Amino acid sequence: MELRELMKEAGLVGAGGAGFPSYAKLNEGAKTLVINGSECEPLLYTDYAILERELDTVLTGIKTVLDGTGIKNALLCVKPHTAKSLSLSDGESLGGGTRVKILPDSYPIGDEISLIFEAIGKVVRPGALPISVGAIVYNVETMYNLGRYVLYSEPVFMKWLTVGGDVKSPCVIKVPVGTRVSDLFKRLGITVDGEHTVIDGGPSMGKIINPATATVKKTTSGLLVLPKNIQASEAKLINEKLSVARAETACCQCTRCTDMCPRHLLGYPLEPHKMVRTAMGAAKAMPEMVINATLCCGCGICESLACSQGISPKAVINNYKELLSQNKMRYSTNTDVDVRAEREYRMIPTAKWKSALGIAKFDTPPVILGEISDFDRVEIPLSAHIGAPSVPTVKNGATVRTGEKIADASSGLSVPQHASVTGHVSVLSDKIIICKVK
Ligand code: SF4
Ligand code: SF4
Repeated sequence: MELRELMKEAGLVGAGGAGFPSYAKLNEGAKTLVINGSECEPLLYTDYAILERELDTVLTGIKTVLDGTGIKNALLCVKPHTAKSLSLSDGESLGGGTRVKILPDSYPIGDEISLIFEAIGKVVRPGALPISVGAIVYNVETMYNLGRYVLYSEPVFMKWLTVGGDVKSPCVIKVPVGTRVSDLFKRLGITVDGEHTVIDGGPSMGKIINPATATVKKTTSGLLVLPKNIQASEAKLINEKLSVARAETACCQCTRCTDMCPRHLLGYPLEPHKMVRTAMGAAKAMPEMVINATLCCGCGICESLACSQGISPKAVINNYKELLSQNKMRYSTNTDVDVRAEREYRMIPTAKWKSALGIAKFDTPPVILGEISDFDRVEIPLSAHIGAPSVPTVKNGATVRTGEKIADASSGLSVPQHASVTGHVSVLSDKIIICKVK
């Protein structure tokens, strides 16, 4: 099977972000395969656990991409703590064209644009794709999942994730896609009181979820239980309208948010202090005024570290992104940019970022528990990826076996879905529920 078809059939999507279908990243002209094992969000150890337990499977996935594309080189990019724990050294060959690249211990080094710059020394032009500098980027877990498909014909129906934060025993665990968070927490003895919130993903860019109704998705890299009264939670809980109103009235235009913005430091024409200065009314009349907002990676440095006035330029920018999306507008240019000389002095050490978010005390290396798959019920979403929803291929009441295809990819950008437990299905408009036969 051709690589593109193989990746699609396996149901591969980006395992820690928005869920971009992996096959769609394969483009002509790539020179380097960049594997993101940076895990730049604090408290997450998912990639670390996969590399510790399953490095050979990850390397199988990488080799499959190299063989299928003709790319000669792959760089497995990891932070110093991962390299140290796994006894990897910078430049070390792992065989088959893959070498280790040790990244600076800073945030947000896993942002695709920052990662590519650190890996191959090239800046992707603002608004362009990684392929424009000859790079394709995949996450460690994506390569692990591809390796499983090649070795065992096993499509994506299990998910590795970190369960951490303010819990007694942080762990990394592998569970069926669609596992209810409430079932998982019950199994792990975790209760969530009114003083805490639960985040799907990392503390900086993850999203607040309702643990009573949420499920583990192909994109769930972590479930973090965090107190509501720390910056990591407050930045997500604050009323966005209030945040934007505060920005319009309290900003002193000190430019600190721009000075510390990682995309600005890479030479991108993104200046959050100017975004804050622009009135929403004017942006609505002329959305092109704020088109640079689409260059923001959403790291949150401007809101949680840079601004001393309690303003969130990120919230303002998110509003502009929404406005631009409605108008189908995004920034793009053919002009190269130069990395700013001050970047190397202004990168944010991970320890400083953890303190800014109020999460340093929760950063306990987790126990790697491995796989738990005996859940009675899973709920598999049909649209937890970028692109068109998957189309069910099973009927209500049918019995399916683990690994069986239960939904096809739609035409256009989309992926299929597979059963993660054996049982009877109920097909709803947005998900397929599978209940184990008792
Ligand atoms: S850091 Fe805060 S006060 Fe300073 S320019 Fe940015 S938003 Fe305004
Ligand atoms: S969230 Fe703020 S600091 Fe981060 S890229 Fe966007 S504007 Fe820059």
